[in-house]
Amino acid sequence: MPGKFYEDPIDDYLPQNGNRGYRVSRYELELVYKVAANRLAGRAEITAVSTEVRPRFALDLSQSLSVSKVFVNGARVAKYQHQQGKLNITPAQKIPAGGALAIVVQYSGTPRPVRGPWGEVGWEELTDGALVASQPNGAASWFPCDDHPSSKASYRISITTDSPYYAVANGTLTRKQTKASQTTWVYEQPEPMASYLATIQIGQYQKYRVGSVQSAVPMHAVIPVRLRARFDHDFARQPEMMAEFRKRFGPYPFESYTVVVTDDELEIPIEAQGISVFGANHCDGNRGAERLVAHELAHQWFGNSLTVSRWRDIWLHEGFACYAEWIWSEAGGGPSADQLARAAWHNLSRNRQDLIIGDPGPQLMFDDRVYKRGALTLHSLRLRLGDAAFFTLLREWTARYRHSSVSTQEFTDLAGHHSASSLRPLWDSWLYSAALPQLPQAGAASVG
Ligand SMILES: [Zn+2]
Repeated sequence: MPGKFYEDPIDDYLPQNGNRGYRVSRYELELVYKVAANRLAGRAEITAVSTEVRPRFALDLSQSLSVSKVFVNGARVAKYQHQQGKLNITPAQKIPAGGALAIVVQYSGTPRPVRGPWGEVGWEELTDGALVASQPNGAASWFPCDDHPSSKASYRISITTDSPYYAVANGTLTRKQTKASQTTWVYEQPEPMASYLATIQIGQYQKYRVGSVQSAVPMHAVIPVRLRARFDHDFARQPEMMAEFRKRFGPYPFESYTVVVTDDELEIPIEAQGISVFGANHCDGNRGAERLVAHELAHQWFGNSLTVSRWRDIWLHEGFACYAEWIWSEAGGGPSADQLARAAWHNLSRNRQDLIIGDPGPQLMFDDRVYKRGALTLHSLRLRLGDAAFFTLLREWTARYRHSSVSTQEFTDLAGHHSASSLRPLWDSWLYSAALPQLPQAGAASVG
């Protein structure tokens, strides 16, 4: 049957996503968005290298968007098909292995989130604006891409929208130009980024500096004016949090950090590269979401700079971000990490123990037990290695794999250098068995 070909999935957690035959190094997106109509028109220029000779190759792109033109290496492509979320492109001439591949796709439509077992992800309309929260497979709802976390590339995102709106994308704002009633915002994201972390945020926002001008990492808030006082109170300790995490996890991996708060309520906050997005409900004026402020900030190291190659290793994102909540609690004068770990252990021990967090399966990869037990795995490792070796390990981990892709094996190998005896039983019991292991006694660190 023409137009359809079957091959091994890149990731069996998301068999529809990701593509073979090329490696993307850069995306340049030029987008025009009409807020009132929720109408998106785009031009995506994708720079890649082919990894094998093949008659055609595919990009992920939602069927909510229609493709009008495709070019490969400057030549208009007559043969392309857009079906079932795949844009299959057959260039007029075969591309040799190792050959440059410059793909241009022009498209437009009414973007809609992608529906899946994890709810709706991707481009979403707000009451007055739009947001993008794509984990794990929503990126194809707004641009053609190789939608898999192991495929990381640099980005330039240009977004033109109605002038009263503030538009945020990943990276540094390099240009802002207003013409008549439209404003164009151009952002450059030089560090490699997974497609699910690419984002656009549009709303009636104001931008504020957070913390002091001298702080090592520039931090900003992009929020509705009405939430300013609550935000200033609720996020007041974010500069201290940043300092604590830089001490514990090593240098902050990006140029800056921006928190967006939407005028709408959001069920959960979401991380993007260099950005976190909270709902108005997370600004309660009572620091009720401070745990989540820490969690999202920690994802900049664990998830965004160091990104899993396969979704099955998701505990490397969520377990670490959850453990960062406990580290912040301890540093910020709340309950210690050990107290929080013992409370979490107690809750888990009363729960069903039928989840392997080292391979939780696609349905349960965002299950709270992956988060909590992932954090407990790290606490157990900390008790085993002692604080000095444990935090040295975390800093080595973020330095060695900065801006790249990671696996559980790479983490356990690195951890092995800090222990005189094998850590295999620890990994087997915490990551690869369903039954909940005992938590070691505090202060039981062995010298290793
Ligand atoms: Zn998270």
